[in-house]
Amino acid sequence: MELMPNFDLHRPTEVEEAVKLRAETDGALYVAGGTDMIVNVRRGIEQPAALIDLSSVQELQEIVEDNEGLHIGASVTLQTVTNDRRIQAEYTGVAEAAAAVAGPTHQSYGTVGGNLCLDTRCLFYNQSEWWRKSNDYCMKERGDICHVAPGGKRCFAAFSGDVAPTALIHNAEVDLVGPNGRRRVPLTDIYRNDGMNHLAIEPGELLTVLHLPKTEAGQPSAYEKARVRGSIDFPLAGAAVWLKQVDGKVEELRIALTAVNPYPQLVKKLDKFSGTKLDDSALDEIAEMVQSQAKPMRTTTVKPWYRRRVVGAIARRLTAKLSEAR
Ligand SMILES: Cc1cc2nc3c(=O)[nH]c(=O)nc-3n(C[C@H](O)[C@H](O)[C@H](O)COP(=O)(O)OP(=O)(O)OC[C@H]3O[C@@H](n4cnc5c(N)ncnc54)[C@H](O)[C@@H]3O)c2cc1C
Repeated sequence: MELMPNFDLHRPTEVEEAVKLRAETDGALYVAGGTDMIVNVRRGIEQPAALIDLSSVQELQEIVEDNEGLHIGASVTLQTVTNDRRIQAEYTGVAEAAAAVAGPTHQSYGTVGGNLCLDTRCLFYNQSEWWRKSNDYCMKERGDICHVAPGGKRCFAAFSGDVAPTALIHNAEVDLVGPNGRRRVPLTDIYRNDGMNHLAIEPGELLTVLHLPKTEAGQPSAYEKARVRGSIDFPLAGAAVWLKQVDGKVEELRIALTAVNPYPQLVKKLDKFSGTKLDDSALDEIAEMVQSQAKPMRTTTVKPWYRRRVVGAIARRLTAKLSEAR
């Protein structure tokens, strides 16, 4: 780790003030809990001229419930999400994912917004300055080539946040506030399949609210991940499952993956299971579909083939568990 570099620190109290500061300050970045940002600053990966600390913006700290659903402020901590009884009961996978992030200390500082806007990760990127320099850096940061796929022109750094896949299966939306105003978009729209630039939001836009719709509440959902250290680690592969059954048959099945692609990914073509019973052969087919759509690359110390198999196995297990629960 490097020493903490010099930068200006701004502590706005209003959303609009934060957005204005970000737009008017060259080289400024948002920081929420700082559990990822500060590590990246001390590794020299991020070199902000200024940080805009969101911790004093009250509007971002609230969870509001109304007829439309639950509206979780971006600076609500993962610990609060884990312990919220409404989220536990009605959006279970989201509470499970928040509880699976890092360890308890990170959860008490780390926020929903920081988790959804987490930078992508790679073995060749999340390293100290001297380590990256000795490798001539990489395409994602100051270098020219991707060490994962040296012949290619793409960066394969993996999105490794735990909360996004669980919010995706609940059809979540987010509010974004930028210099051009406020907009509400489906969560799936803020991600793209590009490890260098995976967030499809405008420069300086602030994510302010995660909306979990009422229509999705109460359907069983679950999240599980594989990681090197069970007590504190990013997912090597993670899957979130949402299942609606009627009379023992699937009405709708949703599965989303994390850590096996540069973006949190909804598994496609699951509508083929609508109207069917989830027997062993259907569950095997689900595992195969998940494995074939997951594209882990050599971005962790653990081999891609293992992560692909594991993510299929997790999705199969969670789907079986949810199908038996009803
Ligand atoms: C040892 C260790 C283990 C970890 N394990 C996990 C893990 O298992 N799973 C996991 O998901 N994460 C893990 N993390 C990463 C991190 O702790 C969490 O992702 C956390 O939720 C990040 O939230 P934060 O508030 O600390 O974000 P910050 O570090 O403050 O910010 C993260 C990024 O989000 C941006 N940002 C923050 N808030 C907003 C906003 N409202 N709008 C727009 N952009 C915003 C920041 O500019 C920054 O780019 C780990 C970190 C460490 C150090």
